[in-house]
Amino acid sequence: MTDILYLISAICFIFALKGLSSADTAKSGNIYGIVGIVLACLGAYTSSCNLLYPLIAILLGGSIGIFISKRISMTQLPEMVAGFHSLVGLSALLIDSAAYFSPELFGIVNNNGDIYISSLIEIGLGIAIGAVTFTGSIIAFLKLKGVYKGQTINLVFNSFIGLIVILFLITFTITADIKYFYGLIIFSLLLGMTLIIPIGGADMPVVVSMLNSYSGWAASGIGFTLQNDLLIITGALVGASGAILSYIMCKSMNRSLIDVIFSYSQIVSDNKNIQNKSNKSYKKGAPEDAAFLLKNASSVIIVPGYGMATSQAQHSLKEMGDILKKEGVSVKYAIHPVAGRMPGHMNVLLAEANVPYDDVCELDEINNSFATCDVAYVIGANDVTNPAAKNDPTSSIYGMPILEVGKAKTVLVLKRSMGVGYAGLDNELFYAHNTMMLLGDAKKTTEAIIKSL
Ligand code: NAP
Repeated sequence: MTDILYLISAICFIFALKGLSSADTAKSGNIYGIVGIVLACLGAYTSSCNLLYPLIAILLGGSIGIFISKRISMTQLPEMVAGFHSLVGLSALLIDSAAYFSPELFGIVNNNGDIYISSLIEIGLGIAIGAVTFTGSIIAFLKLKGVYKGQTINLVFNSFIGLIVILFLITFTITADIKYFYGLIIFSLLLGMTLIIPIGGADMPVVVSMLNSYSGWAASGIGFTLQNDLLIITGALVGASGAILSYIMCKSMNRSLIDVIFSYSQIVSDNKNIQNKSNKSYKKGAPEDAAFLLKNASSVIIVPGYGMATSQAQHSLKEMGDILKKEGVSVKYAIHPVAGRMPGHMNVLLAEANVPYDDVCELDEINNSFATCDVAYVIGANDVTNPAAKNDPTSSIYGMPILEVGKAKTVLVLKRSMGVGYAGLDNELFYAHNTMMLLGDAKKTTEAIIKSL
C-alpha cells in the first residue's frame, strides 16, 4: 500500500512541475502538488507501525503550515520560502545525525557493527549539504526580510572554509570518527553563512532558487538514508528544477552562477550607490496629464515591478488597460524575469487580476517594441528599467538585461518618491527628457488616471 501511494504521489509531483511551468496550467499543477503531498502523508502513515507519531507530525506540521501561510502576504513569499528551505536543511542534518548515532535502526551496519562506507558517504554529504542549506537559508531569510544587509567576505577565506569542509568530509567517510563528524557539522554550518553573507541584493533571487536546489538534494540525501524512494524522487525533482531555475535566472541577468556566488565586490558598490542621492531635475506630472497621454496613444506597454505588488495595483491596472483597449489603444504588459521579489511574481499578480495571458510578454519578446510604442507605463518598477545595467560598467547590476522603456516616446513612472529600488541604485531613466514622474502610491495614481479617463 505504501509503495503504491508513494508511486502515485511521485507521478503527481511530476505533473505538478509540468503544470507549474506555464501560467495557464499553474492551477492544475498546484492541485496535482496538493494531491501528491496528501498521498505522501498517507503513505508515511500506512508505513508506520505506531500510527500516533505520524498523525501528530502531520497534524502539527499541517497546522503550522496553514497558520504561517495565512499570515504571509504575497510580498513576503520569498522570505517564507527561504525560511522553509532552512527547515529542509535542518531535517537532513538531524536525520543523518540520527543515522550516524543509531545505524542499526537504519539497517546500515555490517556484521562487525561498522557503518557501510557507502552509508558514511551518504551521511557525510547529507550533513554537509543540509548544514549549508540550513544556515545559508537563515541568512537569505534575514536579508530578504531586510533586517540584515550582509557584508563583504574575502574569497580566500571562503575557499579556505570550503577546503576544510571537503577535508572533514573525506576523513569522516574514511574513519567514521566522531571528531570529524562534529568538525564537518561546524564547518558546513559556517560555510552556509559565509557563502550567502557577501552576495549582493540584485543576486538574491538566484540565491533563493539555488538554496531551493540545495534543499532538494538534501531531501534526496535523506531519502537514501531512510531508504525512502519517494524522498529520493521528490528531492531530485526539486534539486534539478531549482538548478535549472537558477541557470535560467542567471541567463536572464546575463551572469554566470560562479559570478553570482563569488561576486564579493557587490555589497560595497551597493552601499556606495545608496548614498549617491542626486539633486538632478526631473519632470513631475499629474494623473490628468497621464490620462491625456494614454488616451491619445496608439500603443501602450505596461511595465510592472515590485511597487505594483506592494500597492496591490493589479486590479486597477487591468481596469485602466480595458478602458484604453475600448478606446482602440493596443495594450501589452512587459515582464522582466526578476521583477518583484520572486520568480513569476508579476505573472501571478496579473493572472489574479485576469489579465489575458496573450497580453503578457517576456523581456525578449517585447524589448524591440518599446522603440515604436507611444507610452511606457512603468508602475512600481525601478531596477529592471535602470539604464546603468547597460551603460555603467561600475554599477552592481551592469550586464543585467533591462526593459528598454527609455526608447518609448513618453515614459510614465509611477512611484512614491525619487528613492532607490532593491539594488540601491539611482536610476537615470527618471531624469530623462521623455520621462514624466507620477509620484504617489501606484494604486491611487492609477485610480486617479481611470477617473480622468
Ligand atoms: P525595485 O527595483 O525594487 O523597485 C521597486 C520600486 O517600487 C521602488 O523604487 C519603490 O519606489 C516603488 N514602490 C514601492 N512601493 C510602492 C507603492 N506603494 N507605490 C508605488 N511605487 C512603489 O523593483 P523591480 O524593478 O521590480 O526590480 C526587482 C528587484 O528585486 C531587482 O533588483 C531584483 O534583482 C530584486 N529581487 C528579485 C527577486 C525575484 O525573484 N524577482 C527576488 C529578490 C530580489 P518608492 O519607494 O519611491 O515608491
